[in-house]
Amino acid sequence: MSAALVLGRSRIKTLILNTEKPRNLVTTHSHGFLTQDGKHPSDILKTAKEQLSKYPSVTYSIEKATDLKQDDEWYRVVTEKDEYLAKRVIIATGYKDNIEEVGIKGLASVYGKSVYPCPFCDGFELADKKLAVFGDAFMAPMFSKTISHWSNDVIVFTNGENVENEDLKRSLQNNRVLLVEEEIKQLHSTNGILQKVELASGKIIEREGGFIPDTKSTESTDFAKKLRISTEKGPFDMEVYKVDENKETDIKGLYIIGDARTGWSGVAVSVAEGSMVGAAITHQIIDEEWKE
Ligand SMILES: Cc1cc2nc3c(=O)[nH]c(=O)nc-3n(C[C@H](O)[C@H](O)[C@H](O)COP(=O)(O)OP(=O)(O)OC[C@H]3O[C@@H](n4cnc5c(N)ncnc54)[C@H](O)[C@@H]3O)c2cc1C
Repeated sequence: MSAALVLGRSRIKTLILNTEKPRNLVTTHSHGFLTQDGKHPSDILKTAKEQLSKYPSVTYSIEKATDLKQDDEWYRVVTEKDEYLAKRVIIATGYKDNIEEVGIKGLASVYGKSVYPCPFCDGFELADKKLAVFGDAFMAPMFSKTISHWSNDVIVFTNGENVENEDLKRSLQNNRVLLVEEEIKQLHSTNGILQKVELASGKIIEREGGFIPDTKSTESTDFAKKLRISTEKGPFDMEVYKVDENKETDIKGLYIIGDARTGWSGVAVSVAEGSMVGAAITHQIIDEEWKE
């Protein structure tokens, strides 16, 4: 939608297909995007739609794209209702979290309400509280280092996995982060606010919130994979889609931005990348039209 704003202002015919289920819809407040800090994700979407509605070349449709094919120099976008031809396509379909696959009973009720994936998004609100970090025997201890910046009361729960790495164990002790390796029976919460972690043995540990680094997230669509966009190593050794400075992939006219490209971008970066791609496409169209 941010790309469409630039394209609309450049009077370029643009279609937005959106199922209106951004990844952060489970959360009550979106943080860290200047001018929108603390807004509900739905309110940000509403404002975006209102602002785009004044641009005649931009069409917005609540419609699910089901397939994306390349036909010579055109892209064919198939949806549940129709088919569209486009010279250029921006994949901005994001990621989805698969919380049920984490395998902790009660996690879905607190996810986005008091247990979050990102401390930059929600660490401020959970500062100095009794926090939990859920994850495997490597990721959870590693993540607790970051989380301990926001609270001195952090417990790592590995849900039945043993931390074999002695250096990692020692670093937790040195920083007063407690480690619980026992299996979790279930999380108890009230209105989405984590209250207690119940272990398999019946032991109860009180917690007020927490973080989870691995939400078993996956790409929302398989378009990038199907079209075989090249990948490369990104931050944290993650595989990300390879793009040039215009966010264009190695397939001409195909761009990928936001979570869809890296697995995690945050709202502000997504919006910035959209803006960059909108300007880049406008420049490309100007170059095509300009006669030397
Ligand atoms: C619990 C939680 C809290 C978060 N809090 C914050 C925060 O406070 N601040 C922050 O910056 N980030 C936060 N994030 C991260 C943030 O949600 C993402 O980084 C951001 O939404 C990525 O933007 P995006 O545009 O790439 O993808 P999204 O915002 O996920 O948007 C993708 C859009 O594509 C649509 N779509 C998907 N598939 C199709 C299809 N086939 N056809 C048509 N449309 C489709 C979706 O409906 C959605 O509207 C949070 C995430 C979670 C899970």
